[in-house]
Amino acid sequence: MKNLFADIIIANTNVDRPFTYIIPEKLRDSIIPGCPVLIEFGKIVKKGYVIDIRENTNVDVSKLKSILSIPERELSADENLLSLAIWIKHRYGVSFDKAIATVMPVKLEAAERVSNEISLNIDAECLDKKIEELIKSRKTARARVLEELKTKTSLPQSFINKELKVNSATLKKMEEEGYIVIGSKKRKVNPLLPILRSLGIEDFNDVIKPKEYTLNAEQENAVNTFKYDFEICSRNTYLLHGITGSGKTLVFINMIKYVISKGYKAIVLIPEISLTYQTVLRMAEHFGDRVAIINSKLSKNEKFYQFERIKNDDADVIIGPRSAIFAPVKNLGLIVIDEEHDSAYKNENVPTFNVRDVAQKLSEITNASLVLASATPTPETYNRAMEKKIKLLELKTRAKNTTLPKVSIVDMRDELKRGNRSIFSDKLRTLIEDRLRKHEQIMLFMNRRGYSSFVSCRSCGEAIKCKHCDVTMTLHNNNRLVCHYCGYSIDLPKTCPSCNSKYIANFGTGTQKLEAMTRAEFPNAKVLRMDTDSVSKKNSANDMIRDFANGDADILIGTQMIVKGHDFSNVTLVGIMAADTSLYVSNYTSAQRTFELLTQAAGRAGRAKDGEAVIQTYKPENYAIVAAAAQDYKRYFDNEIAYRSLGGYPPACHMLTVMFSSIKEEELNKCASETVKIIKSEAAFKKSMIIGPTEPSVSKVKDYYRKLVYIKNANYDILLNIQKKIEESLGNYRNVGAIYDFN
Ligand code: ADP
Ligand code: ZN
Ligand code: ZN
Repeated sequence: MKNLFADIIIANTNVDRPFTYIIPEKLRDSIIPGCPVLIEFGKIVKKGYVIDIRENTNVDVSKLKSILSIPERELSADENLLSLAIWIKHRYGVSFDKAIATVMPVKLEAAERVSNEISLNIDAECLDKKIEELIKSRKTARARVLEELKTKTSLPQSFINKELKVNSATLKKMEEEGYIVIGSKKRKVNPLLPILRSLGIEDFNDVIKPKEYTLNAEQENAVNTFKYDFEICSRNTYLLHGITGSGKTLVFINMIKYVISKGYKAIVLIPEISLTYQTVLRMAEHFGDRVAIINSKLSKNEKFYQFERIKNDDADVIIGPRSAIFAPVKNLGLIVIDEEHDSAYKNENVPTFNVRDVAQKLSEITNASLVLASATPTPETYNRAMEKKIKLLELKTRAKNTTLPKVSIVDMRDELKRGNRSIFSDKLRTLIEDRLRKHEQIMLFMNRRGYSSFVSCRSCGEAIKCKHCDVTMTLHNNNRLVCHYCGYSIDLPKTCPSCNSKYIANFGTGTQKLEAMTRAEFPNAKVLRMDTDSVSKKNSANDMIRDFANGDADILIGTQMIVKGHDFSNVTLVGIMAADTSLYVSNYTSAQRTFELLTQAAGRAGRAKDGEAVIQTYKPENYAIVAAAAQDYKRYFDNEIAYRSLGGYPPACHMLTVMFSSIKEEELNKCASETVKIIKSEAAFKKSMIIGPTEPSVSKVKDYYRKLVYIKNANYDILLNIQKKIEESLGNYRNVGAIYDFN
């Protein structure tokens, strides 16, 4: 028989190239691309992944070794995921090993013991007869088990052993006789069930069927465009751009239903923070137990079983955060990314991909459609829609018969001039009192991002900026302000450099302080606070949301957490306490984040009744704030894209951020500046804009010093070449490492 060869990437090594091994005859049928294998590598048995299978090789066959075996209890990447890994390797300049590890977030079934779950294996109708028989023949232990299983779908073995006093040997016999099955609970139980049970729902059959809404004209139009394209096998990327409350969810649920009816499956990505019982329940309503859920609370094994369910075609819809994109789905027809603008879609570790780009690639590899849904899409995505590279589906009205909230901007500088030093503007206070009287609910939103890292003036609204760089200076612990672009630093001034006012303050009050002030100002109101501090217990976020939805509190105070996707029908007022905090983050996306947060926060008001929102700010003229108040995405976008083009930021330009780090400060400094010199001297990189090396906001982490370099170029490939060059240069410095972040 002719030889067959496999190209194999060795896991956990620095050698970033495939090695050829012979596929032994006994493994011929089982080895496929993506398959994990054990091989001997440098006299050690190592794990590797098959990336290609070939009939020929130019290596001397007598020198080749054979694959030893295929490890048990491991998932293999399917061919699509393998192609994706290869793309990730090239796109983000990481090793093969890293790329493969990325697309296989769960690969190993951990060896931990899982508690056994006992369930019935006979029809419910014969159950009574069976019990009777058993009692007659004095097998009362067995009868007790069946009796208990009458009302439960399954029971833990430990419960049966301890409470029913039936030993494991008896259970084993019962299984042999065919009454029951002993299975591992985690293998069998859909993770939706525990969530449903926590809501008092025992079974999928008890899930209330969703209200059959008729789609409105805009929704219908969006769904039909999609269906029509799908029908003629035209697989596209769509931006589903709909204002808050326009019913985007119902639109993509209908798209998913259609895709399933054609025999395909769907992946729905949701920001982890929005993966609440509300969203889960909504999916269960529509798709029952054909849903697989992946989230970070699942153990390794639970994840493994979810992936197994997906592999075995036991699910049609996979819902989860970022990593769910790597679910091993056969016959993928549609990927939905809900809230596509969410920063949680960015992978913070290497490779620093945005899942949107990975999903785009995966949809091309698998010939699936991709739907990006948002009320505030990223400028990058909207720009693609404007350039007609992706299709735009728009929902311009709210689904229920309400209008968008009336939004007003309050200039907090005027409040101070009038002598109001409270954090509540007169307008907001009056409206809160009004709502409390009417027993309607209020949400107060406080943006924590960038909180207290910059200093601004409460009289004129100016934040203190570097006189060399026009970026906000950052307050360090030692009361010094530092510019992170050029390193210029000053002592924290006592008065405002622009207007001499003494009301200059480390910006913002935290949510805790806001809570205390709210209680003091409105002593009769019931106040609930929700932020990462108050939500530490596993389900307490869900509990709080439920309590608030049930009307157990008048005012909900919170951070980003409270603005995401919740639909509270009795909320008629939203107060946004310090709208500008996110503007001062020295990053080109600060206006984008501000617009997003304000639009989403304001959008929480008036979901069922007409509502109002008040934006309190020291920067009432900023375009992100003006456009958010007008709920005018297009206006925001036009401003944003002009700013991005001017500054050479994405999408106008590609940007590579390099973070150098080392324990040795001197070596780091030398390496960073020398490397920048090399790039600057290279003719091929001439058109690149290079900023740095500069200090990052945290310049030392765990004894590692860090330096940042930003490189911009309109051509992505040039950035990849620059990255290669940097790697070369790094070869000369033993103690320096680098992390790359594209865009
Ligand atoms: P979005 O995600 O666009 O902010 P949602 O999908 O949360 O909006 O929908 C907002 C509300 O409108 C939900 O309560 C939803 O049940 C309701 N809704 C959606 N579509 C319709 C429709 N066609 N008719 C009536 N109500 C609808
Ligand atoms: Zn500066
Ligand atoms: Zn001032």
